[in-house]
Amino acid sequence: MAQSSLLKSVIDQNYPVVAYGKGVFLYDIDGNKYLDGSSGAMTASIGHGVEEVAQAMKVQAERIAFSYRAQFTNQPAEDLARELAALAPDHISWVYFVNSGSEASEFAIRAALGYWRDRGLPEKTKVLGRHTSYHGMTMGALSMSGHPARRPDYGPLLHAFPVAPPVHSYRYARPGESELEYAERAAADFEQAIRAEDPQTVAAMIVEPIVGAAGGVLVPPVGYLQKLREVCDRLNVLLIVDEVITGMGRTGDWFACEHEGVVPDMLLVGKGLSGGYAPVGAVLMHEHLIETMRAHSGIAPFGHTFSANPLSMATCLAVLRLLQRERVLDNVRQRGAQLARGLRSLAERYHFVDDVRGRGLLWGFEFVTDRQKRETPDPEQQISSAFVDVCFREGLLVYPAGIAPFNNAAIISPPLRITECEIEILLEKLDLALAHMSGCFS
Ligand code: PLP
Repeated sequence: MAQSSLLKSVIDQNYPVVAYGKGVFLYDIDGNKYLDGSSGAMTASIGHGVEEVAQAMKVQAERIAFSYRAQFTNQPAEDLARELAALAPDHISWVYFVNSGSEASEFAIRAALGYWRDRGLPEKTKVLGRHTSYHGMTMGALSMSGHPARRPDYGPLLHAFPVAPPVHSYRYARPGESELEYAERAAADFEQAIRAEDPQTVAAMIVEPIVGAAGGVLVPPVGYLQKLREVCDRLNVLLIVDEVITGMGRTGDWFACEHEGVVPDMLLVGKGLSGGYAPVGAVLMHEHLIETMRAHSGIAPFGHTFSANPLSMATCLAVLRLLQRERVLDNVRQRGAQLARGLRSLAERYHFVDDVRGRGLLWGFEFVTDRQKRETPDPEQQISSAFVDVCFREGLLVYPAGIAPFNNAAIISPPLRITECEIEILLEKLDLALAHMSGCFS
């Protein structure tokens, strides 16, 4: 295949028109079949065309079109909130529903500021994120996102929230540094970023427990999240954990922060909450925030028209019940281990693939021109988009990623109910796509 055609980004192409999906496969109107190796954007967690979810949606839609959150609550919302709180880390006992991950981020900012106002500290208004993190496209969410490519020209509309340095073991851990030493250094960097701003003005820090789209699955060194919790406690700053990608089972636990036993002040979910069957997000909150707000200004006086709408809630409830009944998290761990083995063996065969990293069914790797030096391809090559393009032609959907400006990573994150045989098909398609990519690295 000619290099020039490899380098054409899928973004420039006319997208096919999707017709329907079944399980881990999507079909377009021309009859082409695609294996959904990225769950769309890490979203379609239970796969496509699940009859019992469609049925739950139908039943709910027939019951009522809409009810307004400031006039009624509804049974699916109550049940879903209770079940999410039961799954969440201890003391996370209150749930506010929104319609996307971005709205969850916005709500988290408002709640953080409201909480500190209620505590008599209204000057705490900044929320610090990390370089290359991503928390949404709305202006507040984008302000907290250290994602250079996504915040180019919005200048005065964005808050000038500073960002802490990125955490990326493959690129930034020092030679000979242990995992714990890197975790300590990275947490100290974040502490330094907060101190440089004056902790009296900082309301919260926000982190993805594993950086997804913005970095290509960056798993932090063990102990890092725990250290951040300590930094937050020391400096009187709230810890917001953005689990829009990692939450609802994607990493093999219900929430990735459980992996380190960390209890955040707020936990954001989206994407997998409805498995893509409805646009939805949620903010799960620690009881100490609720108690403070309840005693003062009150909780969430404003919200969105479609917050907690019965149809979205019934949909999420059906998805959650399916995940629980089928013990899907067990599948995530088993199929995740199989996928990891397969990816590592591909990396052994293709010299330009390195740093296979991930957890559960969220995996990434980097394209490098020189493994020894960990050199990245020329950003002009748009290697990650080129790979997406090649996979697409093999009937495989993957997600482009990587730290800007290199964008040299790819994400593999299939639906959580993928079978053993389907993982093998996915790996075979990846193998074919990587063979095509060899032309870019010869
Ligand atoms: N947070 C993270 C970690 C994300 O990856 C995304 C979207 O990709 C968002 C927030 C924003 O979610 P949404 O696109 O649903 O607004």
